[in-house]
Amino acid sequence: KSGYVAILGRPNVGKSTLLNSLLGTKVAIVTDKPQTTRHRIIGVKHMEDAQIVFLDTPGIHKEKFELNKYMNEIAFSVIPDADVILFLIDAREGLTEADRKILERIGQEKRKDTKVIVVINKIDGVKKEELLPLIDQISKEFPFVDEIVPISATRGTNLDRLLDLIVKYL
Ligand code: GDP
Ligand code: MG
Repeated sequence: KSGYVAILGRPNVGKSTLLNSLLGTKVAIVTDKPQTTRHRIIGVKHMEDAQIVFLDTPGIHKEKFELNKYMNEIAFSVIPDADVILFLIDAREGLTEADRKILERIGQEKRKDTKVIVVINKIDGVKKEELLPLIDQISKEFPFVDEIVPISATRGTNLDRLLDLIVKYL
């Protein structure tokens, strides 16, 4: 099994931290060549039963459009290439308006067979009782979302479950 996984979300929600944790090392830049396709491989995780290729996009480093900085960061151009999309939010902030805008676009631009996992990160910063209403809200507002997984990227909480789900969806 193998496939492409894109990690999207606003700045500071913990995308780089999660990638590092999932890879088990500091981010390995596999290729630093100039952009020839829409995406660029930023890391590969090899497992017994699967190979997961994490994608970056050309748009991600451009900060030209100051008004829509978060859009640059989330790099919409990767959406059609992804087999699995991990959309990260910050548990302490809940679902923000910016998060909603990004999720709407993911819903519009993803392939039909692409799985979307909403990852609620930084759960070390909230009470357990706050998570259930947030999970309810996300699944009601965005029915195309396949799974919602609460994690802590820094503490490693629930990362094994997230990885299992990714492999299941590849
Ligand atoms: P990115 O901009 O989405 O790539 O976010 P980073 O990975 O750079 O993380 C932004 C900040 O959030 C850093 O200070 C991280 O240490 C912190 N952070 C990431 N994951 C967690 C988490 O699970 N819990 C807490 N408390 N902080 C986190
Ligand atoms: Mg980052």
